[in-house]
Amino acid sequence: MDNSLINFKVEPPRFNKPISFLVVDDDLRARESLVTLLQRQWADITEAEDGEVAISLIQQRQFNIVILDLNMPKKSGDQVLAFIKDKKIKTTVIVLSGEASINKVTEAVRLGAYDIFRKPYSFDELEHSIHNALVKLRIEEEKAQIQNRLAHSEQLHRYMVDNSPDLIYLLNLAGEFTFVNDSVTKLLGYEKSDLLGKHYSEFIAIEDRLKAEYLFNERRRENRSNRTIELRLKCNPSADPSKPFEVSTRPIELNSMGIYAVDSKDSKKSVYQGTYGVARDISSRKKAEKLITYQAYHDLLTNLPNRAMLLDRLDLAIKQSERTGETLIVMFLDLDRFKLVNDSFGHVVGDQLLVEVAERLKTEIREGDTLARLGGDEFMLLLPQPTSKEQAESVAQKLIASLQQPFFLKSKEVYINVSIGISVFPGDSTDINTLIKNADMAMYEVKSAGKNGYTFYNDKLEHAAAEKISIESGLRNALKNDEFEIYYQPQIDIKSRQIVGVEALLRWNHPTLGLRSPSYFIEQAEESRIIEQLSEWVLRRVAIDLFSDRHFLESEIKVSINLSATDVRQKEFPENLVSFTEDFGIDPQRLEIEITENMFMSDIQSCIHKLQVLSNRGISIAIDDFGTGYSSLNYLRELPVHTVKIDYSFISEIEFSQKGAALVAAIVGMAQGLGINIIAEGVENVHQSDYLESLGCHTMQGFLFGRPVSVGEFRTAVANQHESLSSLPNT
Ligand code: C2E
Ligand code: MG
Ligand code: MG
Repeated sequence: MDNSLINFKVEPPRFNKPISFLVVDDDLRARESLVTLLQRQWADITEAEDGEVAISLIQQRQFNIVILDLNMPKKSGDQVLAFIKDKKIKTTVIVLSGEASINKVTEAVRLGAYDIFRKPYSFDELEHSIHNALVKLRIEEEKAQIQNRLAHSEQLHRYMVDNSPDLIYLLNLAGEFTFVNDSVTKLLGYEKSDLLGKHYSEFIAIEDRLKAEYLFNERRRENRSNRTIELRLKCNPSADPSKPFEVSTRPIELNSMGIYAVDSKDSKKSVYQGTYGVARDISSRKKAEKLITYQAYHDLLTNLPNRAMLLDRLDLAIKQSERTGETLIVMFLDLDRFKLVNDSFGHVVGDQLLVEVAERLKTEIREGDTLARLGGDEFMLLLPQPTSKEQAESVAQKLIASLQQPFFLKSKEVYINVSIGISVFPGDSTDINTLIKNADMAMYEVKSAGKNGYTFYNDKLEHAAAEKISIESGLRNALKNDEFEIYYQPQIDIKSRQIVGVEALLRWNHPTLGLRSPSYFIEQAEESRIIEQLSEWVLRRVAIDLFSDRHFLESEIKVSINLSATDVRQKEFPENLVSFTEDFGIDPQRLEIEITENMFMSDIQSCIHKLQVLSNRGISIAIDDFGTGYSSLNYLRELPVHTVKIDYSFISEIEFSQKGAALVAAIVGMAQGLGINIIAEGVENVHQSDYLESLGCHTMQGFLFGRPVSVGEFRTAVANQHESLSSLPNT
C-alpha cells in the first residue's frame, strides 16, 4: 500500500514569506536610489549592474520581482526577458526603459513583462504596480495551493474508492455503467471494461431484475433518499473454469442514490443525471442466516425437521385440506424403552440409536411426508397427501416393521420398538393442536396396552386419559391420607398343608370407588414415580404388620414383596433395602422380593450386581409372572434367582389344553433342573393342584387356598396354624 497517500499534507499558505527583489540597471545612481526607496518596505533586495550578472543571479535563486532596465551593456533587458521566458522561470518582471517606442514596448510585453515604465518614472506608480504584482502573485500562489490540495484529495478519494471492498458504481441516464471500481473483479470476476457502457440489468440475476428496476426507477422520480435492497448479481461464468456453464450469483446489498443537477432553464428544478451507489457482498451474512434458519427448523442430531417446521407444514396441509376436502394423517411415534437404552449404554449410544432410527423411518415414507423429531425419543409424521385410514395403517405397520430388526451400536445388539398413535383430519379434529394431542393420546393408549403397535384416536381415549390424570392426582393424596392397605395371600405347601409364605399385595382404599387393586393404579404410580414412595410405604407396612406379630415371628413364613422396575433401577436400591431390614430388625431370610423378567432387558449387568448384593445378605429373589415377559432363559443361569412363580395364565390353561399342561410341566422341570424353587400362582381348583403336585411343584398360591386377606385375618390364620399345625386359613 502506498502510505504517502495516507500521510499526505497540504502546504500552509506562504503569504508571510519575505518578497525578494532583483534590481537590474547599469546606471549606478538610478539603481541605488531605487534600492533605497524599495528598502523602505522590503528587505530582500539584490542588485545587478548588467544583463549578464542578472541572468547568472536568476539562475542561482528565485526572485519574486525583477525590476529591469532595457538598455544595458553585455546583455540587454530584452535578452534577460527572453532568458526568463525561455527557461520558464517564475517571476514578475517590471521593465524600466529610456525609450518609449511602441516597438520596444510590444517586444517587452511579448517577452512576458508584467508592466513597463518610461524613465523618468514616478516611484509611486512603480510602487503601485509592484503592489498589484504582489496581489496577483498571492492569488496565483493560493490557486496553486488549492489545485495542489484538490489533486491530493482526488488521489485520496480514488484510492478509497478503488480499495473499497464494496463495488462502487455510477449509472448514466440510460442505466449504463459509467464507472465501476476495482472491486468488481474480486466480487464478480469481471474486468471493469466488461461493465462500462453496459446496462445494469445484464448483471442482475433474472429473478431479481424487477426488484432492481423498481429501485432505479424510484431514484429517477426524484426520490433523493438513498435506499438499500438485497439482490443477486451474476458472476462472470468464465472466471471459474471448473464450472464453465454455471452462472453463479453473489448476494449483495445494493445501495443507490439519484444524482441530480440544477436545471439550466429553471434553477429551482433539478434534473436527474444518473445513479450512484454501492453494492456490498453479503455472502457470509447470508450463509450465517441460512445456518440460523436451518437450526431454527431442524433437529441437529438427526437432521430431521423439528417441531417448529412440523407445525408450519401441518398448518399449511390443514389449510390445503380444508380447500380440497381431503383427509390428512398425523402420527405420533414414541420409542419403547428408549430410556433404558440411554441409562444402560449412555447418551452417546442413545444418540446414535436415534440417528439410526431416523434413517430407517425416513426410508419408509414418501417425499411429501414430513417426519419430524420433537425431542427425546418422540417423532411425528405428517402424511399430507390424500390418505385413507387403510393407507395410514399400512404406513404404521411398515414403520413398526422397520425398527424390528436389531440395531448394532458399539458392537452391542439393541432392540427397540415403537408405539404409534394416529389422528385423522378432519374426522378427529380440525384444530392443529387437538390433532397432535389426539395422536399423542392414541400413542399412550398403545403404550399402556403393552407397547409396540399403533392405534387410531377415538373418543374413549379421551375418557381414559382423563381417568389417568385423576388417578395420578388421587395417588398423591392417597399417600397423605393413608388410603393404602396391604392384603396378604398365603402360599401353601401342598404336602403339609401349611402356610410357608405370604405375598403382600397392595390395595387402594379409594374414597369414592372403594377397594382398588394395583392394576387400576400401578402404571400411573410408576409413570409419576410415586411408586418409589409407595414401595417404601409397603415395606414399612409389612414390617409393622408382620414382624411385630409373635406368631409370625415364631413361624418360618417368608413374606414376598412386589417391586417395580423403577425401584430396582434406583442406584442405591440394594443398599437401601439391606439397611431397611437392619433398621427394622428383620431377618433377611424371611424376605423375598418379586420382580418381573422385563427388568433385566437391557441392564442385565447392573441387575446381576444389585441382586447379588441382596442375595449375599440372605434376601431371596423371585421371578414373578414367569414366562410372560422377556423369556430369555439365559438370565436364570446368571442371576441369583431363588424362586420362579409360574404365571396364572399358564395354570389356568392346564385343564383346557394339552399344550398348556405341557408348558407348565416344562417350566417346572426346568426350574427343578436348575435347583430353583417353584410357586404356582392363581391355583383355583383341585384339578390344577393335583396336576402341579404330580409334577413335583409343591408350593401353591391361589383362591383354592386363600384369597388375599386383611392383616387381621392373616394374623389369625398364622395364629391358628401355630395352635394347630394341621389347620388351614379359613377365608
Ligand atoms: P402378582 O404379583 O402376580 O400378584 C398376584 C395377583 O394374582 C394378585 O392380584 C392376586 O390377587 C391375584 N390372584 C391370586 N390368586 C388368584 C387366583 O386364584 N385367581 C386369580 N384370578 N387371581 C389370583 P393383585 O393383588 O390384583 O395384584 C396385581 C399385581 O399388582 C401383582 O401381580 C403385582 O404385580 C402388582 N402388585 C401388587 N402389589 C404390589 C406392590 O406392593 N408393589 C408393586 N410394585 N406391585 C404390586
Ligand atoms: Mg407378585
Ligand atoms: Mg404374579
